[in-house]
Amino acid sequence: MLRNIRIVLIGTTHPGNIGAVARAMKNMCLEQLVLVNPKIFPSAEATARASGADDLLASARVCETLEQAIAGCRLVVGASARLRSVEWPQLDPRACAEKLVMECQGDTDAALLFGRESSGLSNAELDRCHYLVHIPANPVFSSLNLSQAVQVLGYELHVADLAMRQVPVESVSIAARDPVSAEVMEGFFVHLRQTMKDIGFLDPKQSEKLQRRLRRLFLRARPDRDEINILRGILSAAQGRKSMRPE
Ligand code: SAH
Repeated sequence: MLRNIRIVLIGTTHPGNIGAVARAMKNMCLEQLVLVNPKIFPSAEATARASGADDLLASARVCETLEQAIAGCRLVVGASARLRSVEWPQLDPRACAEKLVMECQGDTDAALLFGRESSGLSNAELDRCHYLVHIPANPVFSSLNLSQAVQVLGYELHVADLAMRQVPVESVSIAARDPVSAEVMEGFFVHLRQTMKDIGFLDPKQSEKLQRRLRRLFLRARPDRDEINILRGILSAAQGRKSMRPE
C-alpha cells in the first residue's frame, strides 16, 4: 500500500534536503517521490545525501504545478510546521498515517505534501488538502528539518502499514464509495464559483473566506462521481435559470 503514497515536496530550496528525504523514504518503504518546482534538481548533493536511496531520486517525478503532482489522488494531506486556524481540519501523525494507509488499500494514490524550508505551504496549497498533519513539537520551536518531518511521518506510515497487513484483507473496511480525484473536485469548485457569480450570490468582499469555507465543506464530504454529477447538474440548472430570466 505504501507504494501508492506520494511524498510531494513543494519548492524545495536545498538539494541536500531532497536527498535526505529520499533516504528517509526508502528507510520507511515509501517509493513515490514527487518534486514540484525544486530549485536545484538533479544535483550531486542530493545524490550524496540519499546515500544509497538514489534509485528514488532517479524515479522521482518533477512537476511544474501542484495540480500535476496530485492528479489522480483522492486524499491529500498537507504537513504543516505550525498549527493553523480551524479553517483546515487537523490530524495527528498517527491518525494521518492510518487514514492514508487505509485509503491506499485499493489501487488509488494519496498524497502527503511538504512545504518550502523558508515558508512552508501557502494558503492556496493548503486549500488543496483534505487535512493538515502537524507533528507535535516544542511550541516555540516547532519547525523540523524537511527530511526529518518526512522521517517522522514516514515512520508512522510504515507502522500503520505493518499493522494493517496483520489484518486479513477481507476484514479491512474499504470505503464502499469511490471518492473523486483532486482534479474532478477542482472542476467542481470552478463551476461552483462561476455559478455563484452568475446568480449574483458572490460578495467580492467575502469571496475568499466564503470560498474556503465551501471548499472545507465539500472536501470533508469527499463526494463520489454520482454525487458530483448531481451537484454540477444543480449548478448548471441554476446558471440556466439565471440566463433565461428576462433582464
Ligand atoms: N518555516 C516553515 C517551515 C518549513 S519546514 C514554516 O514556518 O512553515 C519544511 C516543511 O517540513 C514544512 O512545510 C512541513 O511540510 C514540514 N514540517 C516541518 N516541521 C513540521 C511539523 N512540526 N509538523 C508537520 N510538518 C512539519
